[in-house]
Amino acid sequence: MESSELDIIAEGVTKSFGNIQALRGVDLKIKKGEFVTVFGPNGAGKTTLIKLLATLTKPTSGKVIIANHDIKKEPDKVRALIGVISHDPYLYGNLSALENIGFFASLYGISQPKEKAIQVIKQVGLESRMHDLVRTFSRGMQQRLAVARAIVHEPKILLLDEPYTGLDQHGARIFGELLKWLKRENRTIVMTTHNLTEGLEISDRVAIIDGGKIIYESDARGIELTKFKEIYFEKVGT
Ligand code: ATP
Repeated sequence: MESSELDIIAEGVTKSFGNIQALRGVDLKIKKGEFVTVFGPNGAGKTTLIKLLATLTKPTSGKVIIANHDIKKEPDKVRALIGVISHDPYLYGNLSALENIGFFASLYGISQPKEKAIQVIKQVGLESRMHDLVRTFSRGMQQRLAVARAIVHEPKILLLDEPYTGLDQHGARIFGELLKWLKRENRTIVMTTHNLTEGLEISDRVAIIDGGKIIYESDARGIELTKFKEIYFEKVGT
């Protein structure tokens, strides 16, 4: 594969915290516009992997290239190109939805922050609650607003760490629709999740990480479901 077709390249990435080896040599190649879901049990290294890609932490060894930028050498360039969504929405409860997203738009130096904030709030379906304080929002609404925060600077790459955490069935369904829209927008997306059904349905490719190593990888389309589920249920659980 030509490296120009790739948005994310991880080569031999390790990450240690003292004696704990969270990542033990991860190799990953993610194509432009691809939606990749990484499944894994608790403590497998999912959050550490997302944090590395998001430049929030540095690898102990190995290399990570995002959109042709080495994360160690050009973290600022990488940050401008990525949006991050985790289970914590990183929003201010005592500000309205519009004030929150307007604030993040200003941080990114967007020229008409309020207009841009209104646009993305509409895109995530929260227009009617735009002026309400975020602390009055349901968990599902806060997670949708977190998507608005993550896309306000129009990043081409989105990193999602367990975004389904704490969502009820209704919230998960709406969030899943939002993910499908983000995918149609041709973004490159890496998601970690425990949610087998949703993760499998939306992905172009799936991987399983266990003990800091990728132990399984497959295209979602031609996937051998029996084999995938065997490994999934053995390593990740229900
Ligand atoms: P979960 O599904 O429970 O969120 P995970 O797959 O996201 O798990 P990580 O959070 O990446 O796993 O953790 C991988 C390993 O690294 C674990 O053993 C964890 O205890 C350890 N670890 C992660 N962050 C730190 C840290 N800041 N300091 C020490 N150990 C850490």
